[in-house]
Amino acid sequence: MEDCLFCKFVSKELKTNIVYENEDFIVFKDIAPQAKNHFLAVPKKHFKYLADMTEEDAALLGRILKTIPTLKDVLELKGGYRLVINQGDDAGQTVPHLHIHILSGQKMGWTPA
Ligand code: 5GP
Ligand code: ZN
Repeated sequence: MEDCLFCKFVSKELKTNIVYENEDFIVFKDIAPQAKNHFLAVPKKHFKYLADMTEEDAALLGRILKTIPTLKDVLELKGGYRLVINQGDDAGQTVPHLHIHILSGQKMGWTPA
C-alpha cells in the first residue's frame, strides 16, 4: 500500500533493522522501546484491523504467532514475553498496518497506555 511506513519496510523501500524475515512477515526493533526488548512483527500483507482479515489472513496470523516463540534467542524471549496488538485510536494504534508488539526483558506489570 502506498504511503504506509510498514509496507515500505517490507518492500525495503525504506531501511530498518530487520532481525528476522520469512515469507509471511518481518521483525525489527521498535524505534521507541517500551520494554528492554521491544520488537514489531509485521505481516508482509497490508491490512489494518483484525476485523478486516480474510480466512487466509487469519491463517497467516496463526503462522506468525506459531513462529514467534521459535525466535526466542534472537528476540530474547527466555524469561517470558508479552504480545500486544493495538487496534484503533482508543488503543493508540498509530501505524495503520497490523503489527504485533513483542515485549520482553523485564517483569512487566499490567501497564496499558
Ligand atoms: P502502534 O502504536 O501503531 O501500536 O505501534 C506503532 C509502533 O511503531 C510504535 O511503537 C512506534 O514506536 C513504532 N514506529 C513508528 N515509526 C517507526 C519507525 O520508523 N521505525 C521503527 N523501527 N519503529 C517505528
Ligand atoms: Zn502497510
